[in-house]
Amino acid sequence: MIGILGGTFDPVHLGHLHAARSVCDRLGLASVHLMLSARPGHRDAPLAPMAARWEMLRLACAEDLRLVPDDRELRRAERIGRPSWTVETLEEMRAETPHESVAWVIGSDALAGLDTWHRWTELLDLAHLVVLRRPGAELPASGPVAALLAAARADADDPTFRQTPQGTIVVLDVPMLRVSATSVRSALGAGRSVDDLLPRSVSTYIWQHQLYGVRSDPGSTA
Ligand code: ATP
Repeated sequence: MIGILGGTFDPVHLGHLHAARSVCDRLGLASVHLMLSARPGHRDAPLAPMAARWEMLRLACAEDLRLVPDDRELRRAERIGRPSWTVETLEEMRAETPHESVAWVIGSDALAGLDTWHRWTELLDLAHLVVLRRPGAELPASGPVAALLAAARADADDPTFRQTPQGTIVVLDVPMLRVSATSVRSALGAGRSVDDLLPRSVSTYIWQHQLYGVRSDPGSTA
């Protein structure tokens, strides 16, 4: 089984790294890929250039062999001349390795908006969804996503999850860090410390390249 945490990583933060490590631990996976989206059509445009987001992702993943930076969606976007929707990326992976299970990892905030994703009803034909409960974002209790969750939910030890390549939703009850890229950007913009939010390598990169409105390295004044 391959685990994939997709995101805009604008920037990648400790919440992402903790989430990926928790998935490795709880599902017994050797690694989780952190797959950068070129420019997701269904949310606001990212604030850091794609090359910078990729570099920060590489730096963050270099600290743990289980975390693999993955540029598949970037390469695909370049090839097709537009952003790749998750469903298309999964189709491409399925075509390449038809028997490999894919666990597409999302936070509960992303699950709540799943019905805004392109061809969202087809996602479970291509992968399992692994949902991490994110502080402040409950699981949907009503509506089409709640109905899908009720129909497809499985336990992490369930044979349907373990032995089939796609089709279930597993909710992992592991405590997630209360960090978001939005809170990181606003801390940086306000000159507050991001020591508890970002790996050191990423904050250094941000200061060196003066991303997100920072002007100087707060490390020099902190
Ligand atoms: P933003 O604040 O800009 O919306 P974000 O912090 O949610 O960004 P994304 O790159 O959009 O980061 O997230 C990628 C994926 O990681 C999503 O599925 C999201 O739910 C999940 N995720 C982000 N932060 C956490 C966290 N602290 N705990 C668990 N999952 C997270």
